Amino acid sequence: MSPAGNASRWLKVTTLSAVTLTMLSTVSMAFYPEYLSGIVWPEPPVITPGTDGGPPSDAIVLFDGTDLSRWEGGEQWEIKDGYAVTAGGEITTKQEFGDIQIHLEWASPVEVEGDGQGRGNSGIFLAGRYEIQILDSYNNPTYFDGQAGSLYKQQPPMVNACRPPGEWQTYDILFSAPRFDENQQLMRPGYVTVLHNGVAVHHRTEIKGNTAFNMPAMYEAYSGKGPLALQFHRDQVRFRNIWVRELNPIVGDYPAERAPWSPEVLKRQKKKQSAKTAALTKEREAAEKSAEGNTGTKLTKKQNRKPAESVAKDPPLKK
Ligand code: MG
Repeated sequence: MSPAGNASRWLKVTTLSAVTLTMLSTVSMAFYPEYLSGIVWPEPPVITPGTDGGPPSDAIVLFDGTDLSRWEGGEQWEIKDGYAVTAGGEITTKQEFGDIQIHLEWASPVEVEGDGQGRGNSGIFLAGRYEIQILDSYNNPTYFDGQAGSLYKQQPPMVNACRPPGEWQTYDILFSAPRFDENQQLMRPGYVTVLHNGVAVHHRTEIKGNTAFNMPAMYEAYSGKGPLALQFHRDQVRFRNIWVRELNPIVGDYPAERAPWSPEVLKRQKKKQSAKTAALTKEREAAEKSAEGNTGTKLTKKQNRKPAESVAKDPPLKK
């Protein structure tokens, strides 16, 4: 066949295919009409994303390299060259948060000193209670649920994504706060997702309760909003570019029978929650019993954060 004949044949086949697909699509839509939820959604707010880890336009900037005025205790830490260095004690945000996205950048000391938990140790406490560990875990063995990126003493990171000492590292965290009922019973645990240097190390990991070095995790009820805290563990860890965004899912206008507050839906939820609460209460009681057996006394939150054996190994604070 001549080239002209080939082109003509190709055109016919293409046209026929297009017509066939259109007909099939029309027939399909007639038998399978488009699904419509009936929910009327408000338009999601338009924001401007940040660049190079910078804050989006709707972020709350907690530290931009110049001052720590949004933090209680911030005056203890030294600020220079656009970063803050841990010193003296932990710092906590003056503002409290519920469900949030967090971005922070940290760097362990360039000069390597100490080992295990005594090397570049700090941490970020979600709601002031749940620590995501900060540690120089580059060629520095320690217990796995205490290395960088771990949900401290509860869950190791999926991988060790640590950069060498002195290099800047990023944490991007999504925190879903636990929910408690009016009787201070846990209704739903907290969850955390963490990216360490852009690598997922936790994906919706369930938080089992407060993180402590010397007792099992257990929840203590709170309002659902709490501050963020950055730990001082005697090592000079640097921080920069810290911002958060409050997470507010878009709420739709539901048809009456499908609304989350309709009697049928509430009944189903209540049944589900009762079963969960019973299971969690049982678990907590067992944990409390075990803790009492271990310590004989209930420890305060601050006592829980100071691993005596680790502090003893820490190098002296540099001036
Ligand atoms: Mg720590």
